[in-house]
Amino acid sequence: MSPANNTTTYAAARALAPTPRYGFGTLAIHAGSKPDPATGAVIPPLSLSTTFKQRAVGDFVYEYSRSDNPNRANLEAAIAALEHAAHGFAFSSGSATTATILNTLAPGSHVISVNDVYGGTHRYLNKVASSVGVETTFVDLASIDNLRDAVRDNTRIVWIETPTNPTLRLVDIAAAAEAAHEAGLFVVVDNTFLSPYFQTPLDLGADIVVHSATKYINGHSDVVMGVAATNDDALASKIRFLQNAIGAVPSPFDCYQAQRGIKTLHLRMRQHAENAQRVAEFLEASPLVDSVIYPGLPSHPQHALARRQMRGFGGMVSFRIKGDTHTADRFLQRTHLFTLAESLGGVESLAELPARMTHAGLAPEERAELGITDNLIRLSVGIEDADDLIDDIEQALVSAVAENKLPL
Ligand SMILES: *Cc1c(COP(=O)(O)O)cnc(C)c1O
Repeated sequence: MSPANNTTTYAAARALAPTPRYGFGTLAIHAGSKPDPATGAVIPPLSLSTTFKQRAVGDFVYEYSRSDNPNRANLEAAIAALEHAAHGFAFSSGSATTATILNTLAPGSHVISVNDVYGGTHRYLNKVASSVGVETTFVDLASIDNLRDAVRDNTRIVWIETPTNPTLRLVDIAAAAEAAHEAGLFVVVDNTFLSPYFQTPLDLGADIVVHSATKYINGHSDVVMGVAATNDDALASKIRFLQNAIGAVPSPFDCYQAQRGIKTLHLRMRQHAENAQRVAEFLEASPLVDSVIYPGLPSHPQHALARRQMRGFGGMVSFRIKGDTHTADRFLQRTHLFTLAESLGGVESLAELPARMTHAGLAPEERAELGITDNLIRLSVGIEDADDLIDDIEQALVSAVAENKLPL
């Protein structure tokens, strides 16, 4: 990009980040979204061109759309602003984000990852990174001593996800970052489950924050995308280089859609959390439920850490229905508002059975160790009316549990 063109949408947008001069909602609406200087369009137009006219050789704002384009630059500026970062990046999926960041590692490097990391991240580390000589140790990061014990001479990165999926365990980001930095390691935090509205890992000491933007950031279940952000200039230039060299980039249209989603992220997250809290409290009081996992419940084993580290408890609730996998299956077929489907973070409520859907790839012993029982149901609580969601859950619970076989 030519530094002479600092009146463009792009440069103006970048200039807004990372100073958190404005509140979250103001940044969500204005960061990376200045009126188009050429036409005055209040919403920056969708720019589908793959290539851009140069005024003289090398004198351009944008060169080629894989390297950079107006819609992606705008979205990246918004992500950077919301994550309190100097640099934001967008990729074609959350998985492509993971792959690109892990490609910064040289063969022979070692990664420490939280043990109940997202399934696709586990698969990438175990099956893809390992084939290019990057080895991973999966550890329970509930204790930071486990992190210290796993460090080797060639360890480079600690990969954290908090809260985890689907059992919503937390990792103390500040404590993990302190231990990792003592050992000279970078810390990556997958912030997908909370969004920057409820948690900003860079403020807690993480070096890179990543998201599956497919979930809350886009928020409307119609874009697959990933994003990353960092304040480390050297890391940022490596990631920028690899973003272009690997080329796992999102389309301008998807960037445009995700940015439209971001403009209501604060409103959506507040409602997700309010509804999830009500759903979790309803479930906890129900005799048809064995246990409920939600960081906003005082019964959550890390509720105190949740209060310290997060600004809200998010929209994901997991619970064990009284009964077995058949009871759970009946429940999932009988809800009218919660749709039986994978994924999460959209405006609509979804429900799924991790043991046979998202976490079917784990060995039964691994599922047992993580508490992913056959009756564990994961809810992505949407932003419908909470009363309607609770009524829907109640009727499905009553009908599903009523058909449990009576004890002999
Ligand atoms: C969905 C998800 C991913 C992967 O993102 P995709 O956009 O599906 O590639 C990574 N981490 C978490 C926590 C996720 O939920």
